[in-house]
Amino acid sequence: MKKQVIQPEQVIQPENVFLLLFIQFVFLSFFSTCVQAKAPREKALCENTPKLTVVIVIDQFAFHYIPKLQKYFKYGLKDLFDNGVVYYKAYHPHGVPETTPGHHGLSIGTCPRDHGAVANDWLGPNGEIVEYVNDPEFSSLTSSEPGRGYSSRNTKVDGLSDQFMFKSKPNCTHKVYALSLKSYPAVSMAGKLGKPFWLDQQSGEFTSSTAYFKELPKWVADFNQLGQAEKLKNTVWELMYPDDSDEYDFAFIKNYDYAGLKEPMIGANSDKVINKINSHKYYMFEKTPQSSKYLLNFAEKCVDSNFDVNSNDKMILWVSLSNLDLLCHFYGPDSLEVIDLIYHIDKQLKDFFMYLKKKIGEKKYLLVLTADHGICPIPEIAQKQGFYQAKRIAVKPLVDHINEIIREKFALPDFEVYFEPTSFVIKREVFDKLSASVKHEILKTIKDYLRAIPGIKNVWTFDELEGATFQPHQLESFYKNQLYAGRSGDIICQPEPYCQITKYPTGTSHMTPYDYDTHVPLIIYQSGRFENKKINKKVWVPQLPATLACILHVEQPSASIFDLLPGLGF
Ligand SMILES: [Zn+2]
Repeated sequence: MKKQVIQPEQVIQPENVFLLLFIQFVFLSFFSTCVQAKAPREKALCENTPKLTVVIVIDQFAFHYIPKLQKYFKYGLKDLFDNGVVYYKAYHPHGVPETTPGHHGLSIGTCPRDHGAVANDWLGPNGEIVEYVNDPEFSSLTSSEPGRGYSSRNTKVDGLSDQFMFKSKPNCTHKVYALSLKSYPAVSMAGKLGKPFWLDQQSGEFTSSTAYFKELPKWVADFNQLGQAEKLKNTVWELMYPDDSDEYDFAFIKNYDYAGLKEPMIGANSDKVINKINSHKYYMFEKTPQSSKYLLNFAEKCVDSNFDVNSNDKMILWVSLSNLDLLCHFYGPDSLEVIDLIYHIDKQLKDFFMYLKKKIGEKKYLLVLTADHGICPIPEIAQKQGFYQAKRIAVKPLVDHINEIIREKFALPDFEVYFEPTSFVIKREVFDKLSASVKHEILKTIKDYLRAIPGIKNVWTFDELEGATFQPHQLESFYKNQLYAGRSGDIICQPEPYCQITKYPTGTSHMTPYDYDTHVPLIIYQSGRFENKKINKKVWVPQLPATLACILHVEQPSASIFDLLPGLGF
């Protein structure tokens, strides 16, 4: 069946006749372009597509870092900005940006309302946490974790990885590997047919699950045998540049008042700080520059072990550098730790690109760099900068007050409401027994209460949001793009800019549709194929999978609704 190619906000108002005519035009244009591109493929498929496609996702690499830090990039990031097709206005179109929906958007090409991965975890009908990645049927290959496993069962559609693997043939073998420090981005990008690997947080080894392998592949076991994680964990974190250089000349860079950890992770004692917090052995290591170095070493081992450069093999390699996200939740985007980690990643990427050039050949690999979401400044730092409306809204008092009000007003002593950013779920055991009119009255009471809280802009019930009609580009439509029945909660909140509804008393997060949370870099580079270009047209990150599908001469993911990215000569 043929697929439509439309923009996400147009999904909201399909009744527009002119819009439908436009959709038809775009749809025909897309298919004629792709059909033309595919015409010679039976003969020249293996010669004309990149041998290796590497998609590097720097988790939480918000676009707002670019105007601030770009002049200090000297290595891999500089190379990409200087030589790639650079999209300066690339956005994720969902209202509560997080790792899992972000990695789905960039690898599957849809919104959560289609792929179902609305968050890293969501609340079940009685407030229980449902982890996106957890599937007890498929256990870890390296650890015994009772009741816990890993698969992409909760993803409801196929992605680029699956479509690429569908086209694998004996004389042109396709392979997909997805590597991350965390399980859920790796699983999100691998789809059903790719092979994900992530860091086992107890052993420091790379692992996968029985959904993908019967046992750990030998090349992974060999890599783990080297014990690099333990050595890197005990390495001192040193600044990339002298402490007093312009690279670090920013306001609030050494303010630890509102950080999750009140002491620096950089400097002579950094190895002791890194080993100090032990909720699991590699908890702090995952936040250091050494962890992205470890992951990129593993990526090189993956290519060395699985890719014969002299064969017709083709590979997609997804690499998700999770350390920036894990670190930034603690220290915030203005911190010395976060800025220096970006400089380290800049250098590490250069080393990785040098490896690719030598191993694959300069013109034979395609590089993509993007991010899964951005990050909000620490609200208290934003206040100190003068944006006095910035606010940290503690969630516990909200939940306690709502429970108190509803229990008393409706004589329901067992009433319970739960919160997971940024929606509330009402305990089903109690709510389902009530009449429609009482349910309506309860929802209205909760909404009225939340609307009166300073820092909360909009409050919808699931049904209200589902039935709402928004103007194109209206931020509220991002919330509608994220709705999925049974996973999105009963009441959904939109905070004001720089406001966060959170259970954490320190640090920061990413949970709004605003620019700082949804605007990310997007760069595509292949030597000899695409010229350096600056594209200021607004694009959506979920346009990437259909675009890569066209470059790789495979079908686009079947639920992808997005147009191809501009500026690539399609
Ligand atoms: Zn995060």
